[in-house]
Amino acid sequence: MQRAARPHCERTGVVNCDLRMGKSFDIGLQQLTRREAGARPDVSFAGPLAARGTFFLETFGCQMNDHDSEKVAGVLLSRGYRQVETPEAASLILYNTCSIREKAAQKVFSRLGEYREKQKDGKIIGVLGCVAQQEGEDIFERAPWVSLVCGSASYRKLPEMLAELEAGNHRVTGLDTDTDETFETEMTRRDNPWRAYLTIIEGCDKACSYCVVPYTRGPERSRSSEAILREVHQLAALGYSEVQLLGQTVNSYRDPRPRGMRFSELLLAVADVPGIRRVRFTTSHPSDFGQDIVAAIESEPKLCDHVHLPVQSGSTKVLQAMQRTYSREEYLEKVDMIRSAKRPIALTTDIIVGFPGETEADFEETLSLLEDAQYDSLFSFKYSPRPNTPSLSMNDSIPEEEKSRRLAVLQDKQREIQRVRNLALTGETVEVLVSGKSRRENQWAGYTTSHRLVNFTSQAHELLGTYVHVRVTDATPNSLLGEHAV
Ligand code: SAM
Ligand code: SF4
Repeated sequence: MQRAARPHCERTGVVNCDLRMGKSFDIGLQQLTRREAGARPDVSFAGPLAARGTFFLETFGCQMNDHDSEKVAGVLLSRGYRQVETPEAASLILYNTCSIREKAAQKVFSRLGEYREKQKDGKIIGVLGCVAQQEGEDIFERAPWVSLVCGSASYRKLPEMLAELEAGNHRVTGLDTDTDETFETEMTRRDNPWRAYLTIIEGCDKACSYCVVPYTRGPERSRSSEAILREVHQLAALGYSEVQLLGQTVNSYRDPRPRGMRFSELLLAVADVPGIRRVRFTTSHPSDFGQDIVAAIESEPKLCDHVHLPVQSGSTKVLQAMQRTYSREEYLEKVDMIRSAKRPIALTTDIIVGFPGETEADFEETLSLLEDAQYDSLFSFKYSPRPNTPSLSMNDSIPEEEKSRRLAVLQDKQREIQRVRNLALTGETVEVLVSGKSRRENQWAGYTTSHRLVNFTSQAHELLGTYVHVRVTDATPNSLLGEHAV
């Protein structure tokens, strides 16, 4: 599935599967999971459904969008569609969208303009995801060549919507957000051959004043621990050793089953599944982040040494205006909790600069928070006013050039912090899950448990998908350099 560049997200540094294999569901597991290296093959089910058509799916946005696209692809494949690499080769063109910042949403309409001509060739064009939810049926007015508009909270209805399209209906919508169901699929077409993503909680019940997610993804819904663990067992049987649990506020997880597992218990149960070697989770909300999560990481080495804990601002005044539900001091207590763990845990964050009313002094507080927290990496964004959000009524008074200046200052500061932190690892030996091979001879790449990118040399012939030890010889702000320690 084509992956568009992550829009307007400035990153400084380190950066359901319920496979019922029926007779007509005759796809090879290797193809389904993309566990093979090299070029992606077109995939489809053999059997009576195979003649349905072809689809091209393009994805913008966050990991949750990526994973939604994997599930959408699974639904289409199970209906007999075949996935292709280009819009030209497809009968159905789907565009999974992001509306977190304005430019991301604008991009959707310019891309839809490019697709206009294709509809004349009889192709069906659909808009999925957050822009679909936000703009709703207005999309049909702005882009009448679109036939399907489906928000992320309505994906569970996708099979019915596809049936309507197949029956010749030209305006099909799925725009509910009041669903209390999650998007369960019989099958997920996973794109990443080394790491399996798994949504455990959808939507968001927080109310950050700048954020569209509660409007576009609907209220918080947790999947049952039984369904999650069943899927992890299936993933392990397929050969995945690393899983990443996803949610907008992943640690707000509330098991709907009587078993009532806490998030930290779920982490331990996932790590306990035979074959699983690494468990990641993102994104954690500071207000729901407790000592029990740190204790779980301390007690179970399979839980990765990494917590992504977005702070957004270092100023309590700005945090209040953002409705973030914690102060600078309360956030720093969580940082202390993580930094005092028995083994080092990498800490990363998200920051918005230029929120309405952010003074130079507020911004300085964010810079000083970087000093205090010593993040291993961060995503930074310029504030972007979004429809339906409370901050829309606040005066977006900070000029664009000033937002850009603050972003650059923040990133420079963080780059220096990362340079020093990464260099301090020189001489250490780290475990790397190898996920890339360079065109240059003997050059490989992969990630540590702390999610640091490691570029290293090795004389080995094949390392992809294996865990190796690498001795760190040097570092940049964004990666470690090393050599295979055999
Ligand atoms: N749920 C996560 C949390 O609470 O931190 C964040 C999810 S959001 C998809 C990812 C990041 O986008 C946020 O952490 C925030 O930094 C950024 N973001 C969200 N809305 C934004 C806006 N209106 N302008 C700029 N950045 C925004
Ligand atoms: Fe948006 Fe806040 Fe929910 Fe994160 S916690 S998704 S920033 S509303």
